[in-house]
Amino acid sequence: MINEDRVLQEFLELVQIDSETKNEAKIAVVIKEKLLALGFTVEEDDAAAKTGHGANNLIATLEGTAQGPTLLFSSHMDTVVPGQGIKPSIKDGYVVSDGTTILGADDKAGIAAIFEGIRTLKENNLPHPTIQVVITVGEESGLVGSRAMDQSLLKADMGFIFDSEGPVGEITVAGAGQYRIISKIYGKAAHAGVNPEAGVSAITVASKAISRMPLGRIDEDTTANIGHFEGGKAFNIVTEYAEVWSEARSLVMDKLEAQVKKMTEAFESAAKEMGARVENNVMFMYHGYKYTAETPVVQKVTAAVKRIGREPEYKKSGGGSDGNIFNGFGIPSVTVAIGYEEIHTTNERMPLKELYKASELVLAIIEESLA
Ligand SMILES: [Zn+2]
Repeated sequence: MINEDRVLQEFLELVQIDSETKNEAKIAVVIKEKLLALGFTVEEDDAAAKTGHGANNLIATLEGTAQGPTLLFSSHMDTVVPGQGIKPSIKDGYVVSDGTTILGADDKAGIAAIFEGIRTLKENNLPHPTIQVVITVGEESGLVGSRAMDQSLLKADMGFIFDSEGPVGEITVAGAGQYRIISKIYGKAAHAGVNPEAGVSAITVASKAISRMPLGRIDEDTTANIGHFEGGKAFNIVTEYAEVWSEARSLVMDKLEAQVKKMTEAFESAAKEMGARVENNVMFMYHGYKYTAETPVVQKVTAAVKRIGREPEYKKSGGGSDGNIFNGFGIPSVTVAIGYEEIHTTNERMPLKELYKASELVLAIIEESLA
């Protein structure tokens, strides 16, 4: 039912609009116009002012014509570098760049697929529940756009993020949440040879703490790492100050919080024992999620994948994506693969057949949501 030539032309148009992350102003205007033309009401939040990026997040809503959960489809409008003056061409069933830039299929293939699915829905007068399309800025600069989003504009019951490599049909049903910790350890300087008794070594405090905390692979859902250490000035000075950077990740938020507690408490107890002081600066990065085949959002996307003739495959992710952020907002969301290859390189390419399948998947998700 989808129009292959139309989605291809729109994809080619979108990748030729420069939108390196932080410079989304030009493409935001085009995307907003397209959403309005599709009949959406488009709202903007204040992400540009909050983050210094080139545009706001676009939150578009199409009122439903039938009962069903409100669906959210999302992609991001920014790209990595080098992404200026992209010249796409078609070679052996793929859209490619000229080799001097990325292609920007990450994530304009997602945008084109979402638009084509909805355009097909509308031209065939198919019934649909209320649909929200959210196109974010600043995904590539660390999810800063979605993190700055005005949550009050979101009213979806479940979300589908069109932004992952792998053939259409792969679904990320679990993603690790993350905390970062900067631990600042204040000891006491002294001459190491003359009166070490007067000193408190911040390095010794740090090493005691680190030796007592679980690190590496904690369990099937959870990992932790010390990523950076610095401290000390000279052979003969008891170290007054040391700094340790660490992180913890887990698919399960309770496990993540328990791990962070073990790490901060290890610093605190070691500092206390040795008469030092520690400041743990704990930074929440993003939410984790872990769904099963019984979760409604997974049920819908599974049925939709089968409807387009593919076999669903479930994956988990250790890195962050906008999906983590939407899940953190309380909207159960999965990230779906759209087929782009070798992203973030000048060899990035987009298989035509996956672009078409991704468009079909949008339509199929909407159709399954009525079932
Ligand atoms: Zn992406």
